[in-house]
Amino acid sequence: MIRAGTEFLKNLKQKDYFNATECFNCGTCTALCPMGIEILPRELFRYVLIGAEEKIVERSDTIFSCLLCKMCEANCPQGVKIAENIRTLRWYLTERVYKIS
Ligand code: SF4
Ligand code: SF4
Repeated sequence: MIRAGTEFLKNLKQKDYFNATECFNCGTCTALCPMGIEILPRELFRYVLIGAEEKIVERSDTIFSCLLCKMCEANCPQGVKIAENIRTLRWYLTERVYKIS
């Protein structure tokens, strides 16, 4: 069962950059992604904002598939730093979940 909360977002921000509260779910990022990564940024950001860490772990493959090309970011009407946010999620997965480094 997923419990909504703010702890996950606080943990990410302690270590690194994360801004997504401005995302209003317009879908521009999804439409322009050259990887065809379905609903990636807006879906992930929603999970973070509600504190659904398990869902972020479930989407690990997708998170590491992102090219960090910033096509989405350059066209985001809300100025969300999408690529930096994805980098932060990668840090979380690598260090906190898979403990690789
Ligand atoms: S383009 Fe920006 S505001 Fe629109 S869904 Fe993507 S992250 Fe959210
Ligand atoms: S940065 Fe990632 S999510 Fe954004 S358009 Fe490029 S591949 Fe897609």
